[in-house]
Amino acid sequence: MSRTNGNMEQPVADRGMVIVGAGHAGVSAALALRASGWRNTITLLETQDVLPYERPPLSKSVLRGERTIEDHRLFMPGRMEEYAIEFRRNARVAAIDRDERHIILSDGQTIAYERLLLAPGAVARPLSVPGSDCPGVLTLRDAADAARLRERIRINPRSRLAIIGGGLIGLEVAASARALGCAVTVIEVGRRIMMRTLREEIACRVQSCHEQAGVEFRLGRRIVSIVGGDEVRGVELDDGSLISSNTVLACVGASPRVELAKEAGLAIDNGIAVDRHLRTSDPFIYAAGDACAFEWEGGHRTRLECWKTANDQGKTAGRNMLGMSEVYLPEPWLWSDQYDKSIQVAGYPDRSRQDVDRLCQDQSHLIFHLGEQGEVVGFSGFGSQRQVGHGVKVAKLLMQHRVRPSPADLGDASVDLRSLLGAAAA
Ligand SMILES: Cc1cc2nc3c(=O)[nH]c(=O)nc-3n(C[C@H](O)[C@H](O)[C@H](O)COP(=O)(O)OP(=O)(O)OC[C@H]3O[C@@H](n4cnc5c(N)ncnc54)[C@H](O)[C@@H]3O)c2cc1C
Repeated sequence: MSRTNGNMEQPVADRGMVIVGAGHAGVSAALALRASGWRNTITLLETQDVLPYERPPLSKSVLRGERTIEDHRLFMPGRMEEYAIEFRRNARVAAIDRDERHIILSDGQTIAYERLLLAPGAVARPLSVPGSDCPGVLTLRDAADAARLRERIRINPRSRLAIIGGGLIGLEVAASARALGCAVTVIEVGRRIMMRTLREEIACRVQSCHEQAGVEFRLGRRIVSIVGGDEVRGVELDDGSLISSNTVLACVGASPRVELAKEAGLAIDNGIAVDRHLRTSDPFIYAAGDACAFEWEGGHRTRLECWKTANDQGKTAGRNMLGMSEVYLPEPWLWSDQYDKSIQVAGYPDRSRQDVDRLCQDQSHLIFHLGEQGEVVGFSGFGSQRQVGHGVKVAKLLMQHRVRPSPADLGDASVDLRSLLGAAAA
């Protein structure tokens, strides 16, 4: 979501708009630029040798082999041509010359820009213990990583996968790997899984769901080394135990890609630092998506590594590159699919003063997080797509309209959630 203050500073159309990175943020910016009336060239540059695709399916349907990345293109067929977006694959941007206002590709070519958007995303953090360079120790960030992981866990019926990190991506991979018949152990340093994203009650239910599917957990354990030589044989833990595995996947977070911005002298602060308009410390350069650290309430910076943020920021940045002054207002929302279950978190559960649990007949567990005045400030849910999807939809409306529903009604699964919207639903 965004707000505009109408303060227009129009770019001159004698140079094109250039976008670094064809992920969710870059593609959404390219579409917004054209839709908002930019007539000159839009050049979208991408290091990988593929058409732009969505990343969330890489740990889900693409890993399981049910879908391919062709099914998850970011441009609908014909849209790139219709919008006259000049997409260049295999094009790594190596440097930015801010004085000349052009970017330099790794093959030495230069492209002048009127405005530049940096949307280079993030890189999966590698492990740093001894043995981490052993063949079979992988990370998951792009389509090639997903293909490599799938190859290893699919072809060998005796595959044993050790996943380091019990966060969202690690658990999605665990569910997909079990569907492929692979033995899975999740090793997590925290005392429980999904510490950053889920309330304990829901995290426990997610864990039991995995355990029922045969996933083993080692919680509160640190890895000491990866054991193996030419091939990985296992993971040694800090209690001396060895988790036997022939593939290890590091799911220990991602680091924003800031090198390009840093070398160009742009401000960096937990990512490429931008103001509320997603403008970097250079007024001709914007940033969006996983790489960008935006101003949050209270003045500190944050990054939200999720699809919706990248998409929304791309749109806002694209419009602001045209001289608008929209303020980027985050609408946190993340979802995950594991087995036949959906997990969704929206708003700001951390601001909760009171949590109201709603236990649905089909065992779905919804939590409405209420603020100081009894207003809904966040939502967390785990269960069927139908119940969780409905819950998050209503919660978003309750938040948007600042409705203060009765906690008793919220917690009573026999009360229709829509009835709590009252006048806001009209
Ligand atoms: C396996 C996986 C599962 C996920 N699941 C979910 C989910 O269920 N729900 C959810 O909300 N989010 C999910 N996410 C997160 C979501 O996909 C990211 O937040 C989103 O992709 C970020 O978009 P982005 O455009 O900022 O970066 P990216 O999608 O990473 O795109 C950046 C692009 O820039 C390119 N690039 C980098 N440097 C250069 C350069 N110098 N020159 C040219 N090109 C360059 C990269 O190759 C890359 O293609 C998942 C992510 C992964 C990896």
